[in-house]
Amino acid sequence: MSHQRLTRGAFLERATCAVLALSAVPRAAMAQTDWSKLSDDAWKKRLSPERYAVLREADTELAWSSPLEYEHRRGTYACAGCDLALFSSATKFDSGTGWPSFYTTLPHAVKTREDDSLGVPRTEVQCSRCEGHLGHVFDDGPPPTGLRYCINGLAMTFHPKSLA
Ligand SMILES: [Zn+2]
Repeated sequence: MSHQRLTRGAFLERATCAVLALSAVPRAAMAQTDWSKLSDDAWKKRLSPERYAVLREADTELAWSSPLEYEHRRGTYACAGCDLALFSSATKFDSGTGWPSFYTTLPHAVKTREDDSLGVPRTEVQCSRCEGHLGHVFDDGPPPTGLRYCINGLAMTFHPKSLA
């Protein structure tokens, strides 16, 4: 009996390693990854060049270029780097800027820091887990927060809400 358990455990361990080797890492495994230790090369392997430029080099996608700008289904927007849930569709609004915009984040989803890269003080928004660059937050948003999270679509993936 204990031998069988060991065998099964060893099998699961091997299966987990095999799964981790794939780029489509399941959510449970992704939660255990130490994202701060992921090398630049590892990020380049994980992400398309376009997503890498935004998430790891703080690039900004062209306005109106993201299909997520036109996404109106109910669901969750997750980090394209580590799949952490970032925004709910319930807080998305049409800002007219050409970037997906939200008036608030999901709890503990993002962190912010001051960004003076354009010579104008802005507040950068990063994923709280993998520190990927998401976009910026401005104080000209709608009620109830008055905030506008201006987020690159390339930094996110959309998970439609299950109708089941
Ligand atoms: Zn992330």
